[in-house]
Amino acid sequence: MKVQKQDIIFVVGVSLVYCSLSAGFSLISTILPDKMVLPNPIENGSLSLKEIVGHFVWGAVAGIVTLKLRYILLGGLLAALIDSDHLVGLLHVEGIPRMSHSVTFAILATVVSLLVFSRKDYRLAAIVATSVLTHISYDMFAGGFGFPVFTPFVNKIINLPRTDWLILETSAILIVGIVSFIVTRKESEKIIKK
Ligand SMILES: [Zn+2]
Repeated sequence: MKVQKQDIIFVVGVSLVYCSLSAGFSLISTILPDKMVLPNPIENGSLSLKEIVGHFVWGAVAGIVTLKLRYILLGGLLAALIDSDHLVGLLHVEGIPRMSHSVTFAILATVVSLLVFSRKDYRLAAIVATSVLTHISYDMFAGGFGFPVFTPFVNKIINLPRTDWLILETSAILIVGIVSFIVTRKESEKIIKK
């Protein structure tokens, strides 16, 4: 597995777009009903090194099944960068915590990444969509928090049982694996036809 310049540009580009999207999405919570006092992410320990490394590992593991370095790196980076939705807590405003830990953000981030980078990069779509799963999986593994899964439509914090972390991580690996398998098969069919 060799790192190429295009891989680095791609990984950095997707990461920047994703990170800004997550931080931007969390700002919506300041105008939603049911908002509350947000915890300070630094005092709260949600931006600690252990958290970041844990999220990276959980995300990268799902990316490994693509056997491509750019998606392995992205799997790890996106799963860590989603926590930029905690930064709204530094603004001393009321909002809803962990806005991007939701189905809505997973869909939004996938659509935006496809539109900005490549409409046909289904591996990218799978990595972006499952980054929310691998992220929540580690959060649950590390402490079992509640998440606003259906925000901004239902703003209740939904508590998931801690043991479900394994189901979420396994689902992410399966989704990325199945998509990669189909894409790789299609690519090799094309090469054979040529
Ligand atoms: Zn989190």
